[in-house]
Amino acid sequence: MLQGVQGELLAQQVGIAALQASEARFRTMSDVSPLGVFLSDHDGACIYSNAAYQKISGLSLEETLGTNWSSAIHPEDRQRVLEEWHQAIHGNMPFNTEMRFLRSDGSEVWTRLNSAAMVDGSTSHGYVQTVEDISDRKLAESVLMNAEDALFEAKERAQVTLDSIGDAVLTSDLQGNVTYLNREAERMTGWPRAEAIGRPLVEVFKIVDGTNHEPVINPAQQAITENRTIDLAMNSLLIRRDGGECAIEDSMAPIHNRHGAVTGAVIVFHDASASRAMTQQMAHLAQHDFLTGLPNRVLLTERLSQAIGLARRHRKQLALFFLDLDYFKHINDSLGHQIGDQLLRSVADRLVDSVRATDTVCRQGGDEFVILLAEIEQPQDAAHIAQKLIGAFALPHKIEGHELHITLSIGVSVYPDDGDDVDAVMKNADVAMYHAKMYGRNNYQFFRADMNASAGQRLVVEGGLKRALTQGEFHLFYQPQFNLASGAITGAEALIRWEDPEHGAIAPDQFITVAEECGLIVPIGRWVLREACRQNRAWQDAGLATVPVAINVSALEFRHPEFLEGVDQALAESGLASDLLQIELTESVLMHDTESSLAVLEGLKTRKILVSIDDFGTGYSSLSYLKRFAVDTLKIDKSFVSDITDVPVMTDDNTIVSAVICLGKNLRQRVVAEGVETDEQLAFLKTQSCDEAQGFHLSYPLTADSFASLLERGAPASTFG
Ligand code: C2E
Ligand code: MG
Ligand code: MG
Repeated sequence: MLQGVQGELLAQQVGIAALQASEARFRTMSDVSPLGVFLSDHDGACIYSNAAYQKISGLSLEETLGTNWSSAIHPEDRQRVLEEWHQAIHGNMPFNTEMRFLRSDGSEVWTRLNSAAMVDGSTSHGYVQTVEDISDRKLAESVLMNAEDALFEAKERAQVTLDSIGDAVLTSDLQGNVTYLNREAERMTGWPRAEAIGRPLVEVFKIVDGTNHEPVINPAQQAITENRTIDLAMNSLLIRRDGGECAIEDSMAPIHNRHGAVTGAVIVFHDASASRAMTQQMAHLAQHDFLTGLPNRVLLTERLSQAIGLARRHRKQLALFFLDLDYFKHINDSLGHQIGDQLLRSVADRLVDSVRATDTVCRQGGDEFVILLAEIEQPQDAAHIAQKLIGAFALPHKIEGHELHITLSIGVSVYPDDGDDVDAVMKNADVAMYHAKMYGRNNYQFFRADMNASAGQRLVVEGGLKRALTQGEFHLFYQPQFNLASGAITGAEALIRWEDPEHGAIAPDQFITVAEECGLIVPIGRWVLREACRQNRAWQDAGLATVPVAINVSALEFRHPEFLEGVDQALAESGLASDLLQIELTESVLMHDTESSLAVLEGLKTRKILVSIDDFGTGYSSLSYLKRFAVDTLKIDKSFVSDITDVPVMTDDNTIVSAVICLGKNLRQRVVAEGVETDEQLAFLKTQSCDEAQGFHLSYPLTADSFASLLERGAPASTFG
């Protein structure tokens, strides 16, 4: 029995010793372990912790015991960890989590906690927990995460930027496949990103030459092989996926990796349609007429010079038309510029419709147009077109409720017959056009060698004068002459006016010379004579004071064999007394061919017709002829009168005026001072006892009606005071 008890005790002692050795081994092991270890009972209270655990948690052994082990868990993690822990131990489940300790010195440590039950058969002896310091891993993870965030952010930023910029961006890899395109590139190419990526660049970014539509070698490849930025050729067109075209401007650059090696290309491009359209618009404006949109003079000159070059090479002919609208000014003046402008547009349309598309219709400015028929077989072809144009203008233009009729005067010149360069062809068409005007407008004329430019201008006037005679476009104005002593009206000078329907009022200085040159002065003078006589008689018949009316007679009229006959006729026709008609002649008229002049003068004298010397002082002023020709009146030229000054000393002009006055008085002639414009001049003339005066200061030339009223009223007393 004893031996049994002793054996049992021994056995117990051996067991205890073994246990102690095992525990010592465990402690040693756990103390050298870098893993934190703590044991808890099955309620979760700590019964043991190793050195590593104490180091990791920053707690002493005592502090770890009981429920204290968790006091160092980071407050942000504690709640979660304890909940998980309780759940695990109650459910007998393995437990592991990641959590932080917050040590008393404020430092943080990330750990991984693993827990397992110490089970002996079905009995639980508590739990063993290991705690691993994972701070380094966590740090690495967070660095990585930050880097990823940063990368993501950078990528995102790049993406947003690329999608929001106005330029299209497209990238390709070394093999020439699309790797990326931004939203604008999607829009411009018509390829969605998802579909485009991976496709050959030439398929997604298809470009052709804008001028000939030939495919352009894709410069992205060039950027890659040459490793430099390449600009796309000007005038490139992008062919969209749907076949539409778009003008683009762009550049290509290689893309490098971190090591500087080329990995692909980036293409940046934008829609250049607007700027290209703007450039084209500017070019168009410089060469076209703003109002009608037709080519202007600049473009015409260019086309004409090209056409002449071609015609020369192919031995062909071409025709140039100069067109001028007849009486356009009349419409413009009476209906206003706005209607005038619309009419010009309508005219432009009609011209364009009347010729072939290959012909050029251009507006030269104003109401002048030019048409270039680039190729004709014979001049007759041009004649057909001219007839067609005139025919087309037979129909009215409907503008804002008006039916406007307008006709054309066309001048035609033909290359090479009428000129072999731009200037000659243009000039001669212009000359021919003047002739068309002369021939009564609404017709066309081919250039002839006997026409020339200055003659052309003259001929227009001449044509106009002829028409003016038949259409009654001449009028007479009457400028009164006054007696300086009494202020009474002593006569009137008839002054011709031409009211041209196209050019308005034309002063005699602008057409009398032409009328003299072409002989039209004779019928015109005849008309003046008859009209002045008729008018004077009409005033008389109306019971107004009788005064002589003076008419101006040119040399050619005066020397015309039927001059006196014409005078007789006018007097007879009107019933005007011959002494109520006065003839104004210049000195030069009398000086030439004095014998026949003398005869005509005598004829006038016997008829009691008055004669005056006009513009006296500017011609020969020879006293001898003044004695020979019995003239009634000397009209001192206005150039002397205008130079009269009111200085106390006599100037040359003052002297001449007073000398002429003296002369007239001695010869017993009336002296009329012309062109009196100021009070001083009038005063001076009075002091010199000049008989009469005429001038703007006293009265402007008046219409027949106004002159009649003046005759009735008498001169304003104030002027002669
Ligand atoms: P003229 O016979 O010496 O006529 C006078 C011109 O002087 C007129 O010009 C008249 O308007 C202008 N005059 C009158 N008072 C003044 C003034 O105070 N100051 C200025 N600066 N000028 C004044 P108009 O009507 O232009 O005629 C110019 C010339 O044309 C006339 O000079 C005459 O030589 C010629 N003429 C006019 N009518 C006829 C006509 O029926 N037949 C012919 N053959 N010649 C005419
Ligand atoms: Mg006169
Ligand atoms: Mg005069």
